[in-house]
Amino acid sequence: MINVAIDGPAGAGKSTIAKAAAKELGYIYVDTGALYRTIALSAVNSGVIDNEEETVKMLDSIEVKLGFAEDGTQCVYLNGEDVSSKIRTPEISMGASKVSAIPKVREFLLDLQRNIAKENNVIMDGRDIATVVLPDANPKIFLFASPECRAERRYKELIEKGETVSYEEVLSDVNQRDYQDSHREIAPLKPTEESVMADTSSLTLEESIELIINTIKENTK
Ligand code: C5P
Repeated sequence: MINVAIDGPAGAGKSTIAKAAAKELGYIYVDTGALYRTIALSAVNSGVIDNEEETVKMLDSIEVKLGFAEDGTQCVYLNGEDVSSKIRTPEISMGASKVSAIPKVREFLLDLQRNIAKENNVIMDGRDIATVVLPDANPKIFLFASPECRAERRYKELIEKGETVSYEEVLSDVNQRDYQDSHREIAPLKPTEESVMADTSSLTLEESIELIINTIKENTK
């Protein structure tokens, strides 16, 4: 199976770029952030988001599953309910960053991610795909852009969805999540020695997609 890892900070365009590349190449696009978001949603709903011990206990009573539609669209299910839209809020973004630092949460999601990659050609997007989840992935791509660039993109996305946020709030969230994701003890966000570094700050979306598709094609010849 072909397993491509795309890691990088929030808002680097990973999901849009990886989705387009997967479509072009006929692979399944797996968004692993959705899994951490789903755990966060469950923890928020149960009122345990600020309590690590209770969040870990909660894992015994929940079921998280990924589903893929014919056109490759990923859906995530929490106890059978499709929560794909509910997980896309700033509150859940911050909650996901919180729960993702809990070792038991990462362990809980590990097999689910590996099993999909075992059975399918995938482009898997996350923070620790190359370092932990799929260490044999090829290529391993580290996709990034400046914090300001990423905040601006995310701000536009949220405004388009009708959320009321300011650019400053989004930038502060991006910086806070970057810090949390790269400084946590377990599976911190970082490239590997083999990672292909892709800076999208000055690239258009189309250019970024082309860069990633070419990188994948070159490495899977
Ligand atoms: O990619 P997305 O913004 O949806 O991810 C939400 C949060 O989930 C990230 O900020 C990060 O803390 C966490 N995450 C992670 N490992 C992954 C994917 C996401 O820790 N593989």
